[in-house]
Amino acid sequence: MMIVMQEGATDEQVRHVVERIEAAGARAHVSRGEFVTVIGAIGDDRELVASMALEGEPGVEKAVPILKPFKLVSRDFQREDRVLEIAGRKIGGGHFGLIAGPCTVETREQTLETARVCKAAGAAFLRGGAYKPRTSPYTFQGLGKPALAILAEAREETGLPIVTECMDIRQLEDVLEVADVIQLGARNMQNFDLLSEVGKTDTPVLLKRGLSNTIEEWLLSAEYIAKEGNDRIILCERGIRTFETATRSTLDISAVPVAKGLTSLPVIVDPSHAAGKRDLILPMARAAVVAGADGLIVEVHPSPEHALCDGPQALHADRFAAWVADVRRCVDLMGKVMAGGEPVAAGVAG
Ligand code: PEP
Ligand code: MN
Repeated sequence: MMIVMQEGATDEQVRHVVERIEAAGARAHVSRGEFVTVIGAIGDDRELVASMALEGEPGVEKAVPILKPFKLVSRDFQREDRVLEIAGRKIGGGHFGLIAGPCTVETREQTLETARVCKAAGAAFLRGGAYKPRTSPYTFQGLGKPALAILAEAREETGLPIVTECMDIRQLEDVLEVADVIQLGARNMQNFDLLSEVGKTDTPVLLKRGLSNTIEEWLLSAEYIAKEGNDRIILCERGIRTFETATRSTLDISAVPVAKGLTSLPVIVDPSHAAGKRDLILPMARAAVVAGADGLIVEVHPSPEHALCDGPQALHADRFAAWVADVRRCVDLMGKVMAGGEPVAAGVAG
């Protein structure tokens, strides 16, 4: 249930409503807008409505049930686009966030070189995996903890905040020491214990859509995180499994406007993992931006043919500035601003 307070409701009145919600055995999530405060009461809506006659309480405008299965992340709970501010960079609500970097941290040199290129091209965040979810147990699994130290060094040098994946609760403490954004990968979208644990932190989360999950399931996974108190979540469409084999996954472009209609959280797109092929990434990125995405996450490598993971989909570092310049035109077309990005040199994308 959502309790909308009157404009100008006092802190005391908000506190009183929170106490009533908690006394009814539900959890209260207070969201303070510019003018009105909305309180989400998370529990069984029918029971809550029956047990609490909140309308008529001082400061309460109205109490409305949220009928969607996801509550705190739904647009019913917060109508306006959420703008997340992460390490001084905004994403959502007209602010476009470009996240770029290697699939995997392989060496210090490879990571630092890529980080410099990403920064110069206008990326706002650096991505890079320390822990990698690999289909085969015999392929490179990531450097683990030493990779986190390399990412920290890359941030130190470039100022780019770090996006890196956590695959397991046992990695969380170490990942939290370095990550500005914790990535939860497609294969862990329904690792409910991990979602809840990450929800207890105050580090923003990049939640990728599972390979075979519906948009509703994806938003329910976001709800697991928000329910624990962390509502700084970026959703990421990264392609889904279909019968098509020409691409690694099928980018579900419609997921962007559909998800954005259902939630006010930022929705970004990963064309790299969806396409699996370098040449397809630019057209898919353009499509994503024009479909309304709030950002992109892409893989870049100084020498893709030698990459230990996902080389065929890595953009060439030496052509990345031109790639970004092309995408920036679409961002401009949509009337959005690129967060934290520096001007780029024009050139030919590829
Ligand atoms: C990644 O971003 O490196 C990754 C493994 O992505 P996904 O979880 O979408 O497959
Ligand atoms: Mn990858």
